[in-house]
Amino acid sequence: MEVANKFKAIPSIDRLLLVAANDLEISNYPRELVTDCLRQATARSRELLRQGVDTDIEADALVAMAKLLLRRFNKPSLRRIINATGVVLHTNLGRAPLSTRAVSCVNEVMAGYSTLEYDVDTGNRGSRYSHVVQQLCRLTGAEDAIVVNNNAAAVMLVLSALAKGREVIVSRGELIEIGGSFRIPDVLKQSGASLVEVGTTNKTHLSDFEQAIGCNTGAILKVHTSNYCIIGFTSQPSGLELSELAHKHNLPVIEDLGSGTLLPLTVGGQVEPSVNERLSLGFDIVTFSGDKLLGGAQAGIIAGKAEYIAKMKKDPLLRAIRIDKLSLAALEGTLMEYTLGQPLRDIPVLAMLNASTDELRERAELLNNLMVKTNLPGLAAEVISLNSPAGGGALPAAVLAGYGVAVQLAGRSAAEVETCLRQREIPIIARIQEDRVILDVRCLTEQDFVEIATALCELGRLEP
Ligand SMILES: *Cc1c(COP(=O)(O)O)cnc(C)c1O
Repeated sequence: MEVANKFKAIPSIDRLLLVAANDLEISNYPRELVTDCLRQATARSRELLRQGVDTDIEADALVAMAKLLLRRFNKPSLRRIINATGVVLHTNLGRAPLSTRAVSCVNEVMAGYSTLEYDVDTGNRGSRYSHVVQQLCRLTGAEDAIVVNNNAAAVMLVLSALAKGREVIVSRGELIEIGGSFRIPDVLKQSGASLVEVGTTNKTHLSDFEQAIGCNTGAILKVHTSNYCIIGFTSQPSGLELSELAHKHNLPVIEDLGSGTLLPLTVGGQVEPSVNERLSLGFDIVTFSGDKLLGGAQAGIIAGKAEYIAKMKKDPLLRAIRIDKLSLAALEGTLMEYTLGQPLRDIPVLAMLNASTDELRERAELLNNLMVKTNLPGLAAEVISLNSPAGGGALPAAVLAGYGVAVQLAGRSAAEVETCLRQREIPIIARIQEDRVILDVRCLTEQDFVEIATALCELGRLEP
């Protein structure tokens, strides 16, 4: 049939529904959904014909296409993947995996009712923020704390509550963009405060801040340049100098710590001071993420002086950015690892960032042995040393030395192998280097190893 004539020959939806009614699998789906997918299938065929592509428009072919579309609804779009990139805090891959305790805390409250805003001692209304305050204060040395949806929201709330309608002084070297349109100047504007930039890109002196302080100054803000670093002829006043200056003028001094770590960390040669250390320098309020170096769920944590936190509790913005119960449960469970357990062992992010090169080499050898054992003809695998960033806009100067396995399949390009791994039921995300697929073992479990070996076997046995 001529392509032009095929338009008219596309079967009607009613006719396709009749054909589909004989299909056992399709009969399990609601009729409206089936109709939708049949419509999509015919629309696609029409589009192909319009482009001059000859396509099968028999009823059976269209029903089969609709069936593939229907199957997508069985599988959540947001699903588990295997991270073979070696990047621990991969923002696109969901940042921090949760610890066992955090997962069990989420499980506990997920399906039923909970004490979210209920005080079992008094039988009265409670506060959702109360669940984590005591632990946060113990771990950071803060007087009080509050938790919101994420750190971007935390920064916004702090500025709105403490400096709306007033000026906030920030060093030009710290007017950062985090990505996803989080830019400090924009956040400031959105919060109702106005930005006063001081100093230069590479150097800002204490006197620059001092000269900018006026009768309409609301706060001094320091921002952790978490995703980049300037090296060479640079300087910024120390936290201590800034806080002394602010307090001399009765101003609050705030720090957006970005990642924020509850333990002082040295990762890949870069030192990250703890929240506790920053607060003890005199910062009145600090904000940080729950799912970066802390290793918990998405959250923005605000810790510091009780008088300022009290103002935030009264800000109407708080209600709009409040944390949900699942994230809160995960955060509480994560904090319990710090309070009770061995965070470097039990918090996956910290364990992966601190894994020794010896341990990583052994694990890479394990994965390599699994590959060898498959006896797959044409599979070439080799243990190699690798360097990876920490990711998540944290520790930009850190270089983490690790290990992985480089694989090649005879007759297949690295790009083909990478695509096939990525498009599996449980996607395996890897990278390509010099026409080999690189599987970095840092973020992989032994269960993942088996999944990867199986994937390569299946792929190797398929016709290219
Ligand atoms: C990551 C980051 C943010 C944003 O934190 P989210 O938790 O992703 O909202 C804000 N400021 C700095 C300095 C950051 O590094």
